[in-house]
Amino acid sequence: TKIISFESSADETSVAIVEDGHVVLSNSVATQINSHQRFGGIVPEVASRHHIEWITRVLNDALKTADVKPNELDAVAVTYGPGLVGSLLVGLMGAKTFALAHNLPVIPVNHLAGHIAAANFNQSVQYPALALMVSGGHTELVLMRKENQFEVIGETRDDAAGESFDKVGRLLNLPYPAGKTIDEMAHRGQATIKFPTAMAHEDNYDFSFSGLKSAVINYVHHADQKGEQINQNDLATSFQNAVVDALIGRTKRALENFSVKSFILAGGVAANSQLREELTILLNDFSETIFIPVPIRYTGDNAAMIGAAGYWNYKQKIFADLDLNTDPGLDFDLLQL
Ligand code: ATP
Ligand code: MG
Ligand code: FE
Repeated sequence: TKIISFESSADETSVAIVEDGHVVLSNSVATQINSHQRFGGIVPEVASRHHIEWITRVLNDALKTADVKPNELDAVAVTYGPGLVGSLLVGLMGAKTFALAHNLPVIPVNHLAGHIAAANFNQSVQYPALALMVSGGHTELVLMRKENQFEVIGETRDDAAGESFDKVGRLLNLPYPAGKTIDEMAHRGQATIKFPTAMAHEDNYDFSFSGLKSAVINYVHHADQKGEQINQNDLATSFQNAVVDALIGRTKRALENFSVKSFILAGGVAANSQLREELTILLNDFSETIFIPVPIRYTGDNAAMIGAAGYWNYKQKIFADLDLNTDPGLDFDLLQL
């Protein structure tokens, strides 16, 4: 089964062709990060215009790279939420137009399910599975009792993990998005500053990163006022330790209480080296559970992951009509159509 997939929920315009949900025949991604960097975040109007400029080129590139003709395809998968409405609309229109032109069914895909489904590019997921979904807009522990079924057992009450990296990056005048840069700086620093690990003792699976963000802001402002030079690498190490500690703590608790066959690490922050290392160590204590981090090249937004999740829906015959609309606030509880 060959599925062509469209992703345009934020600032990546992407089209991919994926076979049987795990063989990536092509994955063409155009990123617009450079256009947003001087604003320190995504500017929605700018983002939608870029998607319009790029979508046809990305589509042609994906077909050419995979060396697949439209009549060899079985379906068109598309992200319809969550994300920026103007951005989502471009991918959705592209997907529907392609589907209409080539008489193919449309598969609606939740972007977050896509992030998780990308674990299948590493190895086949066994169920029940637990996923830590850490991205720019979301931080969730998701229990999957079976394939394509999602139960959010814990989530952030304020900022997402990736968002906290990006906000600290902005404070330190690092280019947006700052996750990768902070990750690299953290390797060069020492954990000299004690920041709070939020919610470590609470009896649930939720996260909170705004207290940590405030502590970092206070630390920097305090040093500024006293005219002291801060060591940015030490700050990066100390901050990243606090984020990873919080993620590890909640994950450990969930793994203890739900015995799962697979543990998936997904979303843009899944590229974080310290998080991957510490989870590898943690999972050594859970011998029944295989650790399946999404391969680094598929952790950020891309259409291949939408093709992987699209295949789950395809097998369950979850298709949409051509009047499918975007759902910018879509989450897992709304996934059932
Ligand atoms: P969502 O998926 O919730 O809609 P999004 O699509 O914008 O949000 P992703 O593209 O999945 O988010 O992830 C982007 C985030 O990942 C950014 O916040 C970025 O800073 C972060 N990130 C990328 N690499 C790393 C890294 N090595 N360490 C920490 N964070 C990282
Ligand atoms: Mg992105
Ligand atoms: Fe994403």
